[in-house]
Amino acid sequence: MNKKKKWALDIIQRLQAEYPDAGTMLKYSSQFELLVAVVLSAQSTDAQVNRVTSKMFEKYCTPEDFAQMDIVEMEELVHGVGLYKGKAKNLKNLSEILLKKFDGKVPSDFNALMELPGVGRKTANVIMSVAFNQPGLGVDTHVQRVANRLGLVTTKNPDQTENQLKAIIPVDLWSKAHHQFIFHGRKTCMARKPNCSQCVLGNLCKKVLDN
Ligand code: SF4
Repeated sequence: MNKKKKWALDIIQRLQAEYPDAGTMLKYSSQFELLVAVVLSAQSTDAQVNRVTSKMFEKYCTPEDFAQMDIVEMEELVHGVGLYKGKAKNLKNLSEILLKKFDGKVPSDFNALMELPGVGRKTANVIMSVAFNQPGLGVDTHVQRVANRLGLVTTKNPDQTENQLKAIIPVDLWSKAHHQFIFHGRKTCMARKPNCSQCVLGNLCKKVLDN
């Protein structure tokens, strides 16, 4: 194993001890509900999404429901998350596509997921790993920031980060690493003021070692 892969593994093992239960905080009871929640989560917190979906899923929870829903009602229901108008439109359109092309089911294929409106690489990775237990390493703002600060990657965008992380992290740990970086980004390695003095990764982090 090369030095960088060993370093990545050491980081993941330490994060595993720190966040043994790292996983999605989104609430859902079907693959479709998870897809809706992940689409809504772009530029919003999981708590905001859960507030919106807890009410919405009581009444609407299938692609049929979403395809038939009036767009104005959909906008009102998702009003509590950022970029709600675009997300409402995407949810309606993607539900119509699921019904037309996928028999009303969420496809368990990365490229098929990427064809759906509002679904980018991050969302497709999350759906593959959380809904289908397949390898997936989605890169959101936390993963992007933490991985770059640690020095595991040197990148300017999430696609580059995804590629570089996937090259050094064992495939069976992709999903876990995704959630661990998010937990660490929320609790310790925050955007504005990382708490480096209390960080379990201090002696493994480039940001600290360089100073
Ligand atoms: S040491 Fe600081 S910069 Fe590095 S991962 Fe921890 S909190 Fe983030």
